[in-house]
Amino acid sequence: MKNCDLDFSFFTGDILTNESLQSYNTFGIGGHAHLLVKPRTAEEIVRTIQLCKATTTPYIIIGYGSNVLFPDEEYPGVVIDTKSNFHEIEEQNSVVYAQAGVSMQKAILWFLQKQFTGFSFMAGIPGSIGGCIAMNAGTNRGRIDQLLQAVTYFDGNIVQKVHYPALKDFFSYRSSLFLKNTWCVLSAEFVLDRGDVEKEKKQLQMYLQKRSLSQPLHSKSAGCFWKNPPNQSAGKILEDLGLKGYHKGNIKISEIHANFVINMGKGTCREVMEFAQEIERIVFQETNIQLEREVQLVKV
Ligand SMILES: Cc1cc2nc3c(=O)[nH]c(=O)nc-3n(C[C@H](O)[C@H](O)[C@H](O)COP(=O)(O)OP(=O)(O)OC[C@H]3O[C@@H](n4cnc5c(N)ncnc54)[C@H](O)[C@@H]3O)c2cc1C
Repeated sequence: MKNCDLDFSFFTGDILTNESLQSYNTFGIGGHAHLLVKPRTAEEIVRTIQLCKATTTPYIIIGYGSNVLFPDEEYPGVVIDTKSNFHEIEEQNSVVYAQAGVSMQKAILWFLQKQFTGFSFMAGIPGSIGGCIAMNAGTNRGRIDQLLQAVTYFDGNIVQKVHYPALKDFFSYRSSLFLKNTWCVLSAEFVLDRGDVEKEKKQLQMYLQKRSLSQPLHSKSAGCFWKNPPNQSAGKILEDLGLKGYHKGNIKISEIHANFVINMGKGTCREVMEFAQEIERIVFQETNIQLEREVQLVKV
């Protein structure tokens, strides 16, 4: 792909060439992006995707990069960064409208200020609203789909809006039709309760504290690397096999949480993939369980 192939004259946000992707994901891994763009509006996101499709240029939408693994080689297309300029949030008649780039943690503080309750289970999840919806992020106490009334998205052809209850069918465990079909989430509508805000704050603090004690929050990772098999915990399976602290080269399993794969500094995508394959082999040999990855490997 050459820059001159793409006409970005409609675009008002930043357009970066040959940008290292390492600071755009929490693993701190990845090569350069041929182009990385920071749209300011939903229309700019839509037109960027249309442009990529019309020119058969690969593209990927990212939020905070807290669940992606970028390849070591150059990404030969356009990385669309939604978190830099796309973060409006507002309330109208008790419905909260948020653009996809709003950070989940900013949204939580905003919900609290507006005296809403019922979302504390999302405390500490370091993604954007769009990324959390695509991944159906959550914990064992709840998932983001339970808070949503509607999602506006671009399916590559038209902008659509899907409402509850049809929206329910868009989600599954740590996945969604948005993720599977690479439909871009543009914004979401939340319907939240107004309840005991002090109780909500205490719960939030408790969940954050629990996280800080049970997760390696200062290490480079993408959170839980593998999904939980039905009725089981991937972390517990790995811990029971004595894999906490297991390492090879620059990559290791956290000593604090066995489902966190950590880049100890100069790790590469290739190292992470080889490491993950080895762990999956061990788990299969020992338990007959085939672990499924939660982390999204970006294909070139
Ligand atoms: C320390 C740590 C703790 C974590 N804890 C949790 C947890 O408790 N629960 C949990 O569920 N996850 C957890 N995660 C994983 C991660 O935070 C979530 O999956 C989050 O939802 C990802 O959001 P993001 O904006 O970073 O998405 P990204 O990593 O940027 O993208 C993830 C995927 O979503 C797609 N995507 C991003 N934005 C959009 C969009 N607007 N439209 C369509 N697709 C999009 C991307 O293409 C990619 O495939 C954790 C991660 C870390 C690093």
